[in-house]
Amino acid sequence: MLEAYEQVLDRYDPVLGLETHVELGTRTKLFCGCSTAFGAAPNSQVCPVCLGLPGSLPVTNERAIDYTIQIGLALNCRIAEWCRFARKNYFYPDMPKNYQVSQYDEPLCIDGYLDVDVADESGAVETFRVEIERVHLEEDTGKTLHVGGATGRIHGATHSLVDYNRAGIPLVEIVTKPIAGTGQRAAQVARAYVTELRDLLRGLEVSDVRMEQGSLRCDVNVSLMPKQAAEFGTRTETKNVNSLRSVERAVRFEVERQGSLLDAGTRIVQETRHFHEDTGTTSSGRSKEEAQDYRYFPEPDLVPLAPGREWVAELQSSLPEPPSMSRRRFAEANGFAPIDLQQMANAGVLELVAETIDAGAPAAKARGWWLGYLVGVANEAGKEPGDLAITPAQVARIAALEDDGSLTNKLARQVADALVNGEGDGSPASVDGVISAHGWKVAGEDELIAALDAAIAGDAAAADKVRGGNQGALGPLIGAVMKATGGSADAKRVRELLLERLSG
Ligand SMILES: [Zn+2]
Repeated sequence: MLEAYEQVLDRYDPVLGLETHVELGTRTKLFCGCSTAFGAAPNSQVCPVCLGLPGSLPVTNERAIDYTIQIGLALNCRIAEWCRFARKNYFYPDMPKNYQVSQYDEPLCIDGYLDVDVADESGAVETFRVEIERVHLEEDTGKTLHVGGATGRIHGATHSLVDYNRAGIPLVEIVTKPIAGTGQRAAQVARAYVTELRDLLRGLEVSDVRMEQGSLRCDVNVSLMPKQAAEFGTRTETKNVNSLRSVERAVRFEVERQGSLLDAGTRIVQETRHFHEDTGTTSSGRSKEEAQDYRYFPEPDLVPLAPGREWVAELQSSLPEPPSMSRRRFAEANGFAPIDLQQMANAGVLELVAETIDAGAPAAKARGWWLGYLVGVANEAGKEPGDLAITPAQVARIAALEDDGSLTNKLARQVADALVNGEGDGSPASVDGVISAHGWKVAGEDELIAALDAAIAGDAAAADKVRGGNQGALGPLIGAVMKATGGSADAKRVRELLLERLSG
């Protein structure tokens, strides 16, 4: 039994480190002309360069350099005037050259920061600065598929398949400095940082930032130290966490696991760990106690990078508005308070709310539907709200039907549930289809009167009490009417009608 997150963080200070890998959205790979399109047949997008065949020579993709510098500038980094690629030597089957071209001691971008908004304990919004150590460019590896085992991992597999389509796709790695001082908000800060980073990258149009397809993936480092200690504790690195929700859960779990171990007097092992989506837990990967020697050396087949200052200034001037600014404008235009904005951002529904408003729903309704209902539905299903099978346009349609009295709130939620469960085709028109298929409609006045009469006849004692002025006795009568109409009646109207009928 693990100790609770909050209790652990009453006694320990967490230190986080986040390493984010972003696949750039260039049309071709980093050092050759092969396509980077996702989902092609295995090994159909390869050539001598990305397969590392002898005698082939790489040529750097200029667009990838532009993108990396733009990312660095958007993260307030200094752009190196001169730097080189390096060879990182290691053997792994998904890396055909037996080395990866990366950047080592000479990264392209250094010393930046990203401000993220988090809510404090009282619910007030506060800005937390995450410092960035470096942003560098490297090539991605291929993909190995282990076949025959139960888990898809190498353990228990009968054989493995390798797909080199991904080998050589430009990958930017964004590494934070150690993030201390988050306290109880560690998990929240980690999620807020990756969310902010994703939005920033999307705004730059340098990547499609799809976590579920692996174009944005995050390694989450966590360590604990006793409060007021001078030195950081031993950290673990949970690899390839691929959703915002999982980033938060991985931090929470590691805090609980490490806190429980430390309290039991057990040493934390420095290692990489795997995150399991289904259970929200991590398990041990390979031990990192002996740091690998990658024998880095400058890549001899590539010329150094020396981005001219004019070029950098031009890229700087082409940067779009940062997401924090667009959010502020969105909040002002729709009358949202900073805390509303914060809650929507934290829950990952900001864009969904914006799209629902664009589809015609009033701002407060759009916010209410996502934050007040669909986030809970998503949590229960273990999904991100955006992955639910209900679209913003459909939510707007439901809100409109609720507004004009065609649906009660209860019916509206039933409709939403049906859409989430796969009914409808994503279009707003299919909302009406689902409603008529189920025969869901607000009870008509005739139906209501009949149900009222039946309820009064069925509970004469309660009816007499109401006649005697005891409105508290209305409850069971309203309940009976709602039951008789299958919840399709408007409870407020039922109450009015009952009072009318029982007052004379
Ligand atoms: Zn190639």
